[in-house]
Amino acid sequence: SGQVRFEQVAFHYQPERPILADVSLEIPAGHKLAVVGPSGAGKSTLARLLFRFFDVTDGRITIDGQDIREVTQQSLRRAIGVVPQDTVLFNSSIRYNIAYGDPEASEEAILRAVHLAHLDDFIERLPDGLDTVVGERGLKVSGGEKQRIAIARMLLKDPPILVFDEATSSLDSGSEKAILQALNEVSARRTTLVIAHRLSTVKDAEQIVVLDQGRVVERGTHRELLARN
Ligand code: ADP
Ligand code: ADP
Repeated sequence: SGQVRFEQVAFHYQPERPILADVSLEIPAGHKLAVVGPSGAGKSTLARLLFRFFDVTDGRITIDGQDIREVTQQSLRRAIGVVPQDTVLFNSSIRYNIAYGDPEASEEAILRAVHLAHLDDFIERLPDGLDTVVGERGLKVSGGEKQRIAIARMLLKDPPILVFDEATSSLDSGSEKAILQALNEVSARRTTLVIAHRLSTVKDAEQIVVLDQGRVVERGTHRELLARN
């Protein structure tokens, strides 16, 4: 399960200024679809429509054939995990930040998620390990580490659909590589919508769509897009 379809989706805040127009996408269950394009193209808006942060102005979005407006907010939350562009951490322990949605999570499961999210070295540097308090009044955490914490959270939550919004912030290349590997761990076998800014970060996606000014202007595999441009 987890098949996602966008059917001629349009979205605007003000009618005279369309943000997305006639966007049709199909992500088979377990596939990865990447949306790339310049800043302001509408990529983040598109992702937000999927988890009903906003509702479409026209067209419809379905999950396993069902219009997302007919699904309860609770089951939508269960179905979709989001690794947002700017992960906000709770001013609490790393343990809580990873497992907050699941108070029953075992130490073993948390450590497994930590490992798959490439956070082992980070945890080893913390004075109290998983119980170290992070966030504004605790230990400072870099943008890349925050995103990996969000990825670990998704590995524990294990949703059928994942939205990964790549940070626009300049992550150091070591961190970027770790994030891409961690993303591959979490997206394996899941239906994934990757919002990226550069084509190079989404080489292995089954489908790539290029968005420009709210419209799909190209689609294909990484190889096809490189051959055309
Ligand atoms: P991207 O993720 O590709 O950079 P966005 O989806 O963030 O693009 O933005 C698409 C367009 O929507 C931009 O022109 C942006 O200025 C506009 N936009 C974003 N949020 C709002 C808002 N709350 N009200 C009006 N316009 C917005
Ligand atoms: P929980 O994960 O405990 O159910 P959250 O309030 O953290 O509770 O909700 C996370 C879920 O809510 C995400 O998986 C996503 O489906 C949905 N969601 C709605 N809006 C947002 C948003 N702006 N950022 C992240 N997730 C969002």
